[in-house]
Order: sequence, then C-alpha cells, then structure tokens
Amino acid sequence: MAKEGTDFRLLTGTEVDILKDGTLDFPDDLLAELDVVIASIHQSFSQTEAETTKRLIGAAQNPYVHMLGHLTAACCWSASLQSGPARGD
Ligand SMILES: [Zn+2]
Repeated sequence: MAKEGTDFRLLTGTEVDILKDGTLDFPDDLLAELDVVIASIHQSFSQTEAETTKRLIGAAQNPYVHMLGHLTAACCWSASLQSGPARGD
C-alpha cells in the first residue's frame, strides 16, 4: 500500500472476554498498550438479563475498552434462557 501512495497505520488490538464476574481476562496494564480493545461475552450465558447487562456496562466503563462485541448474541441468549425454550404448536 505504501508503494501506491496510501498512508495507513497498523493497529494492535485484541478481543477480551468479559468474565462471569464482569472483569476482563486481560489486565489493564496490558490493555493500555493496545490501540483497539473489543470486550465480549463468550461464557456464562445462563445469567439473568440484569446480570448480563451489569457485565456489559462494567466492561464498557473500562477506560481501555473501545467497543463491545457480540451484543446481539449476549442479549438473545440471556432473553431466551429467561423465557424458556420455544414451544412448537
Ligand atoms: Zn468473540
């Protein structure tokens, strides 16, 4: 790309897990060194909607998190578990 005259910047980043207790699986000092951090829920989908929301808000408040991933999956799993399995009529 540089030969084509296009300026670009290579970023370093990661996707971190939002653990069951709302903490992230990487320490803040490591996240501070990255350009982009995505925090996502990959486990403990059996929590209530309120618990899942609290986890997401806690992750979003971390100063080193730039965006949340898999929001639809986290919200859908939580909602479906609370309402029970779909019934076919
Ligand atoms: Zn993911």
